[in-house]
Amino acid sequence: MLFINVLGHNAIKEILIKEVSNSRIPHAQLFNEDSGVSSLPMALAFSMYLFCENKSLSDSCGTCASCKKMLKLVHPDIHFFFPSKSAGSIKSGSKESFPEFQKQLLNNPYFTESEWYVSNGMKKSGEIRVSDARVINKIANLKSYEGGFKIFIIWHAEKMNTEASNKLLKNIEEPNSNTIFILITKSANLLLPTIKSRLQTKVFKKLTIDTLKERINQLYPELHDEYINAKIEALDHNYNNIIQQLSGLIEPHNNYNMFVEWVRLCFLSIKKQQISDLVEWCNNSASLEKSKQLDFIKTSLELFRCGYLLKYHPGIRLPEINSANFNFGKFAQRIKSNNIIELAKLLNDAFYSLERHANSKILFLDLSFSIGKLLHK
Ligand SMILES: [Zn+2]
Repeated sequence: MLFINVLGHNAIKEILIKEVSNSRIPHAQLFNEDSGVSSLPMALAFSMYLFCENKSLSDSCGTCASCKKMLKLVHPDIHFFFPSKSAGSIKSGSKESFPEFQKQLLNNPYFTESEWYVSNGMKKSGEIRVSDARVINKIANLKSYEGGFKIFIIWHAEKMNTEASNKLLKNIEEPNSNTIFILITKSANLLLPTIKSRLQTKVFKKLTIDTLKERINQLYPELHDEYINAKIEALDHNYNNIIQQLSGLIEPHNNYNMFVEWVRLCFLSIKKQQISDLVEWCNNSASLEKSKQLDFIKTSLELFRCGYLLKYHPGIRLPEINSANFNFGKFAQRIKSNNIIELAKLLNDAFYSLERHANSKILFLDLSFSIGKLLHK
């Protein structure tokens, strides 16, 4: 991937290029992402730039032998490690799953953790295990194939278990020359402190409206600015989700259906009915990708607000909820001036806590009981 094809984060591009031209490349870097951001494309562009035999001061050439290998992700000196299924105690799960990972990466370098699990046929989240760390150490101690850099990209580094982290420590502390580690995570607090302290951090903030708008305009010139702005806002600047939704790959009403089921279970929880269904709902929701959980909370807040406003503005445009068991008018009767402020506060607080890595399972369950109580107020 060329730098020019990486969306936004121009300041980071400039720093990376400058570090290369000044030959001051940190050997172990942390790409620390905000929720809904993917820095994997930047890691790819940076790697291609390091390998490029004919780079300019702004980008890789895109045509030399190394660039060609990078564009197909077959360069022998780049190694990807990521959460995967176990491949036994000897084999590296990442190496075994690499063909599928490579396919995903070539198809859409912005793909998410949950999309990865689905494509790799995984029912639950994967791990980066000690068998992966062993392979990393082995490769790190060999010479690079092409005589240049050797790059390790560790995607979702927070999924490295303690044993794997401990095994990698020495190589991250004192790597061989021309060896670069790039650890990518949204949860740097979950990395082993001894590893984290060795990493030079680059922070990837949410993409700006202007950056996203420019790209969406290129892809979908027929869409109006107002519609694009609303999508960016509703999907919390998450490029992958926006594109998936615009291309019809994900059902836009997923959150609504989830909401209908949730509100019903919250309501019943006060009568101690269907509690096991509620617990299951919470567990399932907690296993979604964090950005989807946040997106759901935002949608819920919007629906409660709409429910409250309906009394005062009967002509208000209601969300299109296509659920046979849901009547927005009836739902709205439960949202009154004696509970809307508390409802909004609960959801805002939940959003804030989720963003700061609260335990989602507990948070959703607490939230559900509190909302259930307020709906009966
Ligand atoms: Zn090149």
